[in-house]
Amino acid sequence: MTKKLEWIENELQGLKEAGLYNRIRTLSSPQGAWLVVDGKRVLNFCSNNYLGLANHPRILQAARQAMEKYGLGPAAVRSIAGTMDLHLELERRMAAFKGVEAAITFQSGFNANIAAIPALVGKDDAIISDELNHASIIDGCRLSGGKIIRYAHCDPGDLERVLKENRHAYPRAIVITDGVFSMDGDIAPLDQIYAVVQNYEAILMVDDAHGEGVLGRGGRGIVDHFNLHGKVDVEVGTMSKAFGVVGGVVAGNPVVVEWLRQRGRPFLFSSAMTIPDAAACLAALDLLEESTELVDRLWENARYFKSEMKRLGFDTGNSSTPITPVMLGEAPLAQQFSRELFEKGVFGMAIGFPTVPRGKARIRVMISASHSKEDLDQGLEAFSKVGRKLGVIPA
Ligand SMILES: *Cc1c(COP(=O)(O)O)cnc(C)c1O
Repeated sequence: MTKKLEWIENELQGLKEAGLYNRIRTLSSPQGAWLVVDGKRVLNFCSNNYLGLANHPRILQAARQAMEKYGLGPAAVRSIAGTMDLHLELERRMAAFKGVEAAITFQSGFNANIAAIPALVGKDDAIISDELNHASIIDGCRLSGGKIIRYAHCDPGDLERVLKENRHAYPRAIVITDGVFSMDGDIAPLDQIYAVVQNYEAILMVDDAHGEGVLGRGGRGIVDHFNLHGKVDVEVGTMSKAFGVVGGVVAGNPVVVEWLRQRGRPFLFSSAMTIPDAAACLAALDLLEESTELVDRLWENARYFKSEMKRLGFDTGNSSTPITPVMLGEAPLAQQFSRELFEKGVFGMAIGFPTVPRGKARIRVMISASHSKEDLDQGLEAFSKVGRKLGVIPA
């Protein structure tokens, strides 16, 4: 090891000693209710595959057909030679699905945030951001060089205070919130946020990564959920979660979308979404538009699992979505719980500091439409056994 890299070794050792080193498990099966993880067949409570689309036959077929016709790689950035008719069709279809005038796609939701925020605000401007916003929003904010001012989580009153105290001092301002917060499963009060923001001449942006395909009529997202069509300027989404593919989107005002085609840096400087990805996203839209069956089943499963967990005596936090945090407190307990679940054939991830605050460690259960009632019952049985063994619920 050369001297100049020694500090990295020390940092890695420090992470291991603090129990914060990420040991990454390996899958050797397709996504679904059951997985093969580190060689063991386990019930999957970890994926963002809300609707079970990641391995859906129609989506695979669409990807295959598109590859037959167009090949695989885009071979260019969108603004040079990487825009295919498939990309434009996906953008038209996404806009129609979400009931907005325009949409632009990116390689991922992370890239959509990195593209949108620095294009909309600069170093003289204010970014007013929920204190629990996703890392990709935070990075987009930092890249813009704007002044980042945080407001208390999901608190429209505190948002109003921040706007009142600061708005006048900046030429432009943007207010940004996650739609669904991924660690707690709570929903931003976007109707109340809109009511506050509209009095302050600020752009309103929501990142609906966990609401896309989940919230609203047939999974049309948080804007549809609150019936705020035409009122949210920038709606970021991802096709990497419920859509079961990979990709990001910004939907909303056509002027914003046109601007991002000119100034969104990941659009201009990173190659386009691949062909099978774009075709697969189109097939996911077909499925969502044809029937609400998968979205309905997702919510039915989530309601059942949560009510049974509460009946067993678990604290499932403030979630009002299929994200189900099982609150355990200290990180070592959450890690032990996760290991014991795995031994019983259930894959549920422990999440601790710094992803969630200290003392709020949890297992985050991700419910999917792909779970059968038997799968959920098997999961509940494992939670019940481990919970009693570790003294989390009454024996
Ligand atoms: C997952 C997530 C992203 C990133 O989406 P990818 O398509 O996986 O890059 C962005 N924002 C939020 C709020 C997310 O939960």
